[in-house]
Amino acid sequence: MIPAPFRYHRATSLEDALDALAEPDAKALAGGMSLLPLLKLRIGRPELVVDLGRLDLAGIERANGSLEIGALTTWDALSRAEELRGGGLDAIADCAAGIGDLQVRNRGTIGGGLAHADPAADLPAVAVALGLELVVRSANGERTIPACDFFQGPFATALSDGELVTAVRVSTPPTGSGSAYVKVEHPASGFALAGAAALVTPAGDVRIGITGVGGAPALVHGEDELVELEVYGDRFAGEEYRRHLARVVVRRALERARSRAERSSG
Ligand SMILES: Cc1cc2nc3c(=O)[nH]c(=O)nc-3n(C[C@H](O)[C@H](O)[C@H](O)COP(=O)(O)OP(=O)(O)OC[C@H]3O[C@@H](n4cnc5c(N)ncnc54)[C@H](O)[C@@H]3O)c2cc1C
Repeated sequence: MIPAPFRYHRATSLEDALDALAEPDAKALAGGMSLLPLLKLRIGRPELVVDLGRLDLAGIERANGSLEIGALTTWDALSRAEELRGGGLDAIADCAAGIGDLQVRNRGTIGGGLAHADPAADLPAVAVALGLELVVRSANGERTIPACDFFQGPFATALSDGELVTAVRVSTPPTGSGSAYVKVEHPASGFALAGAAALVTPAGDVRIGITGVGGAPALVHGEDELVELEVYGDRFAGEEYRRHLARVVVRRALERARSRAERSSG
């Protein structure tokens, strides 16, 4: 299908993008992997599309015990990033490596993936398990939103109109921690029927993020909390089967995270 008419602006700087996004009915365009299908189906009908593609917002930097990942960093770059291997951050690279196909991973970005907040997307599980923070800018200034407050329901986030995710911040877990992301995917789309990210620390702390089973990612601290998990069913996986899948992916993610933690503590 052909999108409804819209104006197109290729932003030349972050300030230029934020000014343009301050207009009513303006939408940011990053990799376009989610936005373009929505425009073509006319589910989205923005007046103005602001292309972020020329902005310098890609890459991973270390800063004061944390990593800052630029919002335009692609899944492919994340899947190959040395900074994310070992050190308790493998869940991010696991997740990025399993998204869609190579074309999607070459275009799709971490900022777009989080802002889109698809309830079956992979990264939201990792975001809540690892306690990621989203750095958000608008024409009015900057704020930081913890992942646990960011996802508010299917395709709904804490972003206000005109706000842009500029980076994702992740604190380096304590030495000897391990993390992993595991999903059971829909065979056609690759999206998670159920996906789990687990982080275990040497002090015995456990954080598990779960995606694909409800409207927003859930955070639990052990398998015993899964009885309280709200799970929906659809024609691909009924409620009972999805609950079973959630248990399976949580167990697998915990096993992988623990074995990585053991290896890293040597
Ligand atoms: C064939 C296919 C298979 C896929 N498989 C998977 C999968 O297995 N797992 C998975 O998790 N995902 C999957 N995806 C989804 C994919 O990961 C997302 O489409 C992609 O990450 C979105 O990022 P983008 O840069 O393309 O965003 P865009 O499509 O450009 O934008 C998406 C939304 O986010 C907004 N946005 C973009 N960047 C920002 C920003 N920096 N700040 C604020 N808002 C912003 C846009 O305005 C838009 O509303 C798949 C997609 C396709 C097409």
